[in-house]
Amino acid sequence: MTPLTGRFAPSPSGPLHFGSLVAGLASYCQVKSQQGSWLLRIEDVDTPRVVAGASDQILRDLEVFGFEWDGTVSYQSKRFEKYQHYLDKLLNQEDCYACECSRRTLREQGVPSGPLGQIYPGNCRLKQLALENHSIRLNTGNAQWIKFVDRVYGEFALNLSESVGDFVLKRADNIYAYHLAVVVDDELQNITEVVRGADLLENTCLHIYLQQKLGFKTPDYMHIPLVNNAQGVKLSKQTGANALDHQNPSRQLFAALSHLGQSPQPELENAGPQEILQWAVDNWSIVSIPVERAAIAETFEN
Ligand code: GLU
Repeated sequence: MTPLTGRFAPSPSGPLHFGSLVAGLASYCQVKSQQGSWLLRIEDVDTPRVVAGASDQILRDLEVFGFEWDGTVSYQSKRFEKYQHYLDKLLNQEDCYACECSRRTLREQGVPSGPLGQIYPGNCRLKQLALENHSIRLNTGNAQWIKFVDRVYGEFALNLSESVGDFVLKRADNIYAYHLAVVVDDELQNITEVVRGADLLENTCLHIYLQQKLGFKTPDYMHIPLVNNAQGVKLSKQTGANALDHQNPSRQLFAALSHLGQSPQPELENAGPQEILQWAVDNWSIVSIPVERAAIAETFEN
């Protein structure tokens, strides 16, 4: 039997916030409740968006909140040759092609948008452009519906060619796309359980399609409800969510558990972070997680 392995994969575009804590806690409980390993991956593939010092801050945040990861931390910025290797494979299979279209020209052409932005109509598919200085897209030409069963949301499906179109795997400025990096890393790290925010439900269909093209295994997926701020906007670094407060980790962990529908006794809030995590692992209940796509919890966004 494959050993169960999960991961927490924050992007160092800022410190962790309450929404990241909820995602990290859920992935931790999901594997630790089954004696699995929990890996930490810093998703710094988009190097221009990396905020100086954020990676170290994330490691400190996790320590203060009592999390212990297994093995060494992996950094996507150190794995570019792996991403290129699999991109070359797709190019050799003629699943990818170079594209010269910018977002602006597509907008000017009136290209429609789907849940993940512009639906690329495949303008450059047959142009045989040079690979240099162009973005590289994955041809989704014959992709029909991609379906998967999420552990929280149940059956989820997306028609890739109709709703997303050919998506970018490497940008014209040579940055590998998150989609390629995450799929390669999940495969090479033998991840069996992907637990992350519900904003990535659609993205999972892209990842499954890419796994199929690369002959990779598809892990089990579990998406968890997002945390919104009082204005109904998802907490994120981009929307200026507050960093986790090191003064009171227990209170925030307790609130994260409540957001996940777990029902700790109120006294647990007075326990230390390690004790709260142990309770969370011992009492982890997937069926209690609310299935709304997003929910307003106590967000520490006063
Ligand atoms: N790096 C992504 C984030 O910080 C998470 C991606 C994933 O878990 O697959 O939102």
